[in-house]
Amino acid sequence: MDHHVHGALKDDVSQSVFETLITESDRAIPAWMSQFDSQVGFAIRRWCAPVLGLPRHAAAAEYMKARASLGTDEVNRRLLSGAGVGHFLVETGYRGDEILNPEQMGQSAGQRASEVVRLEAVAESIVESGVTAKSFPERYVQALANATTHAVGVKSIIAYRWGFDFEPARPAKVAVIEAARNWLEAFANGGPLKVEDPVLLRFFLWAGVDRGLPIQLHTGYGDPDLRLDRCNPLLLTPWIKLIEPASVDIMLLHCYPYHREAGYLAQVFPHVYFDVGLGVNYTGVQSEQILAESLELTPFSKLLFSSDAWGPAELHYLGSALWRQGMTNVLQRWVDAGDWSEDDAIRVVNMIATENATRVYKLAGGRS
Ligand SMILES: [Zn+2]
Repeated sequence: MDHHVHGALKDDVSQSVFETLITESDRAIPAWMSQFDSQVGFAIRRWCAPVLGLPRHAAAAEYMKARASLGTDEVNRRLLSGAGVGHFLVETGYRGDEILNPEQMGQSAGQRASEVVRLEAVAESIVESGVTAKSFPERYVQALANATTHAVGVKSIIAYRWGFDFEPARPAKVAVIEAARNWLEAFANGGPLKVEDPVLLRFFLWAGVDRGLPIQLHTGYGDPDLRLDRCNPLLLTPWIKLIEPASVDIMLLHCYPYHREAGYLAQVFPHVYFDVGLGVNYTGVQSEQILAESLELTPFSKLLFSSDAWGPAELHYLGSALWRQGMTNVLQRWVDAGDWSEDDAIRVVNMIATENATRVYKLAGGRS
């Protein structure tokens, strides 16, 4: 169960474009370096080359040649089905026209796919289609209800648009209308559609709490649109405490390099869960250490698996392959030392790989 993932690429890409998709940097890659010379690049050559019919560690140019001759549909089919993921929870809010939608993901992988709705994208869609400031709060709640009819969860990117150092209380309606007015006026005057007002971002989060589905929060590592020092999940502590009576589950995504902080929050708060997706892909062979650290403080019923892959299906495949390899190495070490029984190790793997997500997202009943 990949509980947080995005679509795979729809179209063929050149090596230069591909390299921009295997880094969290959004800057141009200098001519004197290749993004393949990184942990994720080495991991692609190690793990994905055989899936494309090449030997392990095939050179980057050879890899890209094989990728081009197979074509994106076949590359997606091989890597998505090869990931061994039975159910993808696909977040659709980012550059959706370049990637497969949840249904296409399910078809390409031959597995189930469900949707997770981005809270900010719902707001941006109603602003695009026209709304008044006064009616904005009600319209948002209605639009969120409509957008999530079949969704299994929602996601917030307040980490990107502001940071976790926000006023935790539910904003007053008058403040929301005022903030919406400023946003709508700026947008009407050629300003960005992108919502960045902290009052509105908090309003969306609280609307997400009211909606009652698990709330995924981007946490830690990400592209330079965010301020990493303001994405430490400990900054969320006041808000986590405030929403506790609502019994809504909070899913801290990625978390690196704050996965130890996330493990602490998952231990002390019953409604906090986390994963170390994204960081696993980008640390390659070193992800084993992060997986071991993710198993420090958290109860094992509070940790989930995700790839956070977006775009190249290599990332969907690697998320799974590196996690399997890393977990095997870490747990085997503990079993060999006599600290864990093999039965317990297998039980914990199943909890993290599927059972925890099935329970939190209530997937056993077949909602998809
Ligand atoms: Zn994501």
